[in-house]
Amino acid sequence: MNDELPFKNILLKVSGEALMGDQGFGIERETIERICEEIAAIVSLGVRIGIVVGGGNLFRGKDVKIADENRVAGHHMGMLATVMNSIALHDGLLEAGLDARIMSAIAMPEICDSFSQREARKSFDKGEVVIFAAGTGAPYFTTDTGAALRALEMDCDALLKGTNVDGIYSADPKKVPNAERFDEISHNEVLEKGLEVMDVAAVSLTKQGNIPVVVFSIQTPGALFEVVNGKGRCTIVR
Ligand code: UDP
Repeated sequence: MNDELPFKNILLKVSGEALMGDQGFGIERETIERICEEIAAIVSLGVRIGIVVGGGNLFRGKDVKIADENRVAGHHMGMLATVMNSIALHDGLLEAGLDARIMSAIAMPEICDSFSQREARKSFDKGEVVIFAAGTGAPYFTTDTGAALRALEMDCDALLKGTNVDGIYSADPKKVPNAERFDEISHNEVLEKGLEVMDVAAVSLTKQGNIPVVVFSIQTPGALFEVVNGKGRCTIVR
C-alpha cells in the first residue's frame, strides 16, 4: 500500500447514466470494461473499494406512469435496475481478474448475497470488491444516499461520486455556461446553497460521518485513477 494515497478505503458511487456510454439508454459493454479496468488499477494500489451503482440508465422511480397510483412500485423497479447494473459490473470485475461479490439490500438469494455489514467488512479485509446493490432497500431514497450509508457502515475514508460532470458547479454548466465551479466546498455550503450534486439525505449522512465526497467525471478515462492518487479534476466536499 502506497502511504501517500489520500484515501485507502473508498466507496465509489457510479451513476447509472455513466454505464450507458453514447447509447442514451442501457448498458454499454465497452464502458463497463473500461470502468472495471480502472477499478482493477486502483485495487492493485492496495486500495479497498466498495461500489454502489445507480439505475438511472434503466429506470427511475419517479419516471414511471403507474407510479402515479403507487409510487412505491416505481421505486422498487428503480432498485431492481440497480441490481441489473450491479450484475453487469460484477461480471466486468471478474473479467478484469478481481475478486468481487454483490450484496443486495433486497434479498434475492438465487442471484446474489444479501447485505450484511459484518460479511461486507470481512470481504473488504480480504481485498474483495463489494458491490452494494438495491440502494438502501427502501423506496423514496436514492443510490447517493445508499452510497453515503454504506460509506459510513464500511468506515470508508471517502465517497467518490463518479458522474458525467467534472465537479460541482453553482448551476448546471450545460445550461449556464458561466456557472461557478468549486474546487473545494463544505457539506454545509452544499446544503445552504441548495446545490444539486446529491440529495440532502446523502449530504447530511456524509457530513455526520465526516466523510469527504469527491465529485469527478467517470466518463473521462483515467480520471478515477488520478482522483484516487490525489490529483485530477474534481470537487472535494469536506
Ligand atoms: N431507489 C430507491 N431506493 C434507494 C435507491 C434507489 O427507491 O435506496 C430507486 C429510486 O426510484 C431511484 C432509482 O431507484 O430513482 C434509481 O436510483 P438513482 O436515481 O439513485 O440512480 P442514478 O441517478 O444514480 O443512476
